Amino acid sequence: MPNEIWVTAEQQGGKVKKIAFELLSAGIDFSKKTGQEVAALLLGSGLEEAAKSLTPFADKIYLLDDPSFTPYTSDAYLMSIASLLKEHQPSLLLGGATSTGKDLFPRLAMHLQTGYVPDCTGLSMGEDQKLTARRPLFGGKVFAEIAFSEARPQMATVRNNTFLVNENPNRSAKIIPVSPRIDPFSVRKKVTGFERAAGAKLDITEADIVVAAGRGIKAPENFKIMEDLADAINASVGTTRATVDEGWRDLKDQIGKSGKNISAKLYMAFGVSGAIHHVLGIGTCKTVVAVDTDPNALIFNYADYGIVGDLFQIVPALTDELKRVLSSE
Ligand SMILES: Cc1cc2nc3c(=O)[nH]c(=O)nc-3n(C[C@H](O)[C@H](O)[C@H](O)COP(=O)(O)OP(=O)(O)OC[C@H]3O[C@@H](n4cnc5c(N)ncnc54)[C@H](O)[C@@H]3O)c2cc1C
Repeated sequence: MPNEIWVTAEQQGGKVKKIAFELLSAGIDFSKKTGQEVAALLLGSGLEEAAKSLTPFADKIYLLDDPSFTPYTSDAYLMSIASLLKEHQPSLLLGGATSTGKDLFPRLAMHLQTGYVPDCTGLSMGEDQKLTARRPLFGGKVFAEIAFSEARPQMATVRNNTFLVNENPNRSAKIIPVSPRIDPFSVRKKVTGFERAAGAKLDITEADIVVAAGRGIKAPENFKIMEDLADAINASVGTTRATVDEGWRDLKDQIGKSGKNISAKLYMAFGVSGAIHHVLGIGTCKTVVAVDTDPNALIFNYADYGIVGDLFQIVPALTDELKRVLSSE
């Protein structure tokens, strides 16, 4: 029982987020070195399907299925997870570097007086069960390799698309129901509702199709043509650091070393030069299409399909054609 590898399997509306499958896959890889069991920690309500989806990815699932876990509150999650961690003493606890992960993990680490590395872009495990975490610092100018002292569990949140998802159909995790461990008087927050931001699309790290424009788009208002293209093919809109630094786009949409890693089935880049800092974030995309006026733009070295041309002509024409083709299907 002691020394398991644990992953918090974040879910939304009963659907487990991709990052959880990525981290469990990494956990299984680590366990081949260390001989540990891998467990998913699943909290929420109405989680039967979510638990089922996790079974090929873990040895155990600790299932805390109770209305008090929906929606997420730091107090309810902290009390229950901290109590379980004290009881089972896993050597490692991983979670996504999502807004929930960034809220929960520092609280847990403080509560348990253990070490926590946020926002990792790489993890490696020694045979002695000691984790080394890699994370960018100073806006991605340097990477730090961080080792843990003796306190356990070693805790880290990891960026999306750092690890590949490896399903193992022969694995079938045992589901272990656990009662909530909450003192109702200690839950100090009550979430009264959620409001989706107008026009909000899937986060670029979760989207199957990402279309991005870089500085070649020339002005913030010109992103309208990218939004139109994205709407036509159900894509999310990403960008480069250049436009974020100009204040044209939000940091949450930045792809690359100091932004996010994406893992889209189709990535289309328009007016993106292809600097190494940017392409570091697209390494696991399946198909890359690039459009740039400069035939020597570096982005063409990473593209499966390239068009030398003006994005202001190509994007609207592509949008119209895709709408036409898709409406005739
Ligand atoms: C420590 C550090 C971290 C960084 N992290 C990141 C990161 O996470 N992500 C990131 O993206 N960058 C990052 N950068 C910046 C990176 O080095 C590049 O400066 C940046 O990616 C360039 O953005 P861009 O391609 O939009 O702009 P540019 O390099 O200016 O390229 C614009 C491109 O648009 C083309 N173009 C112009 N007009 C048109 C048109 N009408 N039609 C088609 N093409 C056109 C041009 O030919 C050019 O290729 C980082 C830099 C540092 C130092």
